[in-house]
Amino acid sequence: KEASATTGEVENVRVVVRVRPLSEEEVQAGHKKVVQVNTVQGMVTVENPCPSSPGEPARTFTFDLVFDVDSKQADVYNEIARPIVSKVLEGYNGTIFAYGQTGTGKTFTMQGDWEDPHLKGIIPNSFAHIFGYIAKSKEDKRFLVRVSYLEIYQEEVRDLLSQDQGKRLEVRERPNLGVFVKGLSGYVVNNAGDMDKIVKMGNKNRVVGATAMNAQSSRSHAIFTVTVECIQEDSEGHHLRMGKLHLVDLAGSERQSKTGSSGQRLKEASQINLSLSTLGNVISALVDGKSTHVPYRNSKLTRLLQDSLGGNSKTVMVANVGPADFNYDETVSTLRYAMRAK
Ligand code: ADP
Ligand code: MG
Repeated sequence: KEASATTGEVENVRVVVRVRPLSEEEVQAGHKKVVQVNTVQGMVTVENPCPSSPGEPARTFTFDLVFDVDSKQADVYNEIARPIVSKVLEGYNGTIFAYGQTGTGKTFTMQGDWEDPHLKGIIPNSFAHIFGYIAKSKEDKRFLVRVSYLEIYQEEVRDLLSQDQGKRLEVRERPNLGVFVKGLSGYVVNNAGDMDKIVKMGNKNRVVGATAMNAQSSRSHAIFTVTVECIQEDSEGHHLRMGKLHLVDLAGSERQSKTGSSGQRLKEASQINLSLSTLGNVISALVDGKSTHVPYRNSKLTRLLQDSLGGNSKTVMVANVGPADFNYDETVSTLRYAMRAK
């Protein structure tokens, strides 16, 4: 499952782990770090903070790639996102997911801090990469870059770039178009600055919608999609290539507390679990390669991403975990999910 050193080809599906540092609040509250990483061997060890079950003092998981608490945003971009974005520029589809419990660094990994060049995440770095590539391309190539930004909450799709945030959009399918969201807005963008502005606008709508629905954005999946079309003219006419990149900040994977969960909350929790478990099943079926059935249809998330998961597409899932003792159960659960998907 290693990237081939000879061809430079990237693995079609990769699952990597990123551990965030203890936060200041966690340190002040006296929480202990229970997650240790061996980056050379790709090992993550989680110590059991209260070994109620003797014989399980620690668990170790092994992955192709693990980012420790001091990993740099640029390293994360270069190692996992750059190969996918390069493929998208060549006309392939790619998807990057951030998975994990709320507060473990999904949004930090995907977006980071837009104001600090060292802290920019995958989304702003991919914009710079895409427009840097276009600027260096030969004159015979013309590019059209379009973006859209949507949110899936309780199996309902909302356009984060629309004027009307109350509207729900339908997922449709047509034989020659595949699966698409009817009426989803798409913006043509000409530079990385335009794209930055559009993401920030969508982020604002995400928060507004979340408040209106009395929910937190941590309960929805946000999908930012960039489509890159390239037209190349030569003596034989012109060739069109199209690549699509999906950048997905998934709903928090934490188990919703059972106490006090009723009606709406319970329904919400079961739908988050269903879409995340379906995604895990889809990815593990793709990795397995021998599965005859990939259950894309079991959730809106996997249905919408179907043409960018599997086949020639490139997929990376970053499983984010926190290092603190009180997150032990969720951390182990995330690592198990990631192990299954890889
Ligand atoms: P999530 O989106 O999974 O809920 P966030 O990305 O909002 O989590 O991260 C929670 C907090 O931890 C934020 O304040 C974020 O800046 C910080 N954080 C997350 N990952 C890292 C990291 N690798 N290094 C430093 N700070 C981080
Ligand atoms: Mg977040």
